[in-house]
Amino acid sequence: MGTYYIGVDLGGTNIKVSVFHENFRKVGEKRTPTEVKYGSEHVLKRIYNTITELLEEMKLTAEDIRCMGMGVPGILDIKNGISRFSPNFPKWEEVPIVAWMENHLGIPTFIDNDARVNLYGEWRFGAGKNRRNVLMITLGTGLGGAAVVDGRVIYGATGSAGEIGHINMYRQGRECRCGSSGCLGRYVSALGILRTFREKVQEGRRSIICDWVKDDLEAVTADMLSKAYDEGDPLVIETMQETGELLGYGLCAVFSLYNPEIIIVGGGMSNMGDRLLQYTKDVLDSHALRIPYGACTIVTAVLGDAAGMLGAAVYAKEQMDKIHS
Ligand SMILES: [Zn+2]
Repeated sequence: MGTYYIGVDLGGTNIKVSVFHENFRKVGEKRTPTEVKYGSEHVLKRIYNTITELLEEMKLTAEDIRCMGMGVPGILDIKNGISRFSPNFPKWEEVPIVAWMENHLGIPTFIDNDARVNLYGEWRFGAGKNRRNVLMITLGTGLGGAAVVDGRVIYGATGSAGEIGHINMYRQGRECRCGSSGCLGRYVSALGILRTFREKVQEGRRSIICDWVKDDLEAVTADMLSKAYDEGDPLVIETMQETGELLGYGLCAVFSLYNPEIIIVGGGMSNMGDRLLQYTKDVLDSHALRIPYGACTIVTAVLGDAAGMLGAAVYAKEQMDKIHS
């Protein structure tokens, strides 16, 4: 039986694959662009090629691998290993990822959503180590969430527990690909905060960023917002404050539901750190239930973008152990 594990982080931009030894020490890694626009079959083949090339470089075969875990964005049928749809993936519907991978690679495969594999990584090896009540939020292109309650990762009836990105914040708000509108993730995410900023500029207001991008608003990035914030740009400070506060109001609801002892903020946008989160904390200070809030700390993730791969591998091992126990 194999003693290695593979963790795959499937993102809209990159496919990231790591091989771990049974103690979860990383022994190999490979990254490649997802090329998501060519559709599901193309992406599956790219994942397959990345894995086989990496194994070849490491002089390993499928037999050396006990199992593989994959973090996949969007709505999944976890039990049947199917990615139902993914907001940022075109030509991507009812994709039988697990069956495809098992047929082509011969390695037992498990999928879970991207926020949850990040949670597994941070919970077992990162900021949430040894905690029994953990809320993970992933602030990336979109907003994801996942939770450990009383020592167990929660899934719910259809595996959607923790989808905080779709908490309704406005009765009539921005349309969301989930079919609703006014969802938290439409505002609190890289796409969301950039849109908020653009809308303010389109109302005729100015920011130093407008000069940086020569008024090409599509060229504005989340990192530019952080930089302009540090330079004291009033329009960006206002954008940051609105976004951070909205996250705070959303988290008030989550607090009441999950009573976490730690909230871990991960994802690329977590680089904004306290520029954003100070406003979130202000709202929680005044609005969250006092006793649970007093027992909770808010931290940024410590594993960076390796959390997804590590977490996917850990998740796969735990699923495999369950089957064989
Ligand atoms: Zn939604």
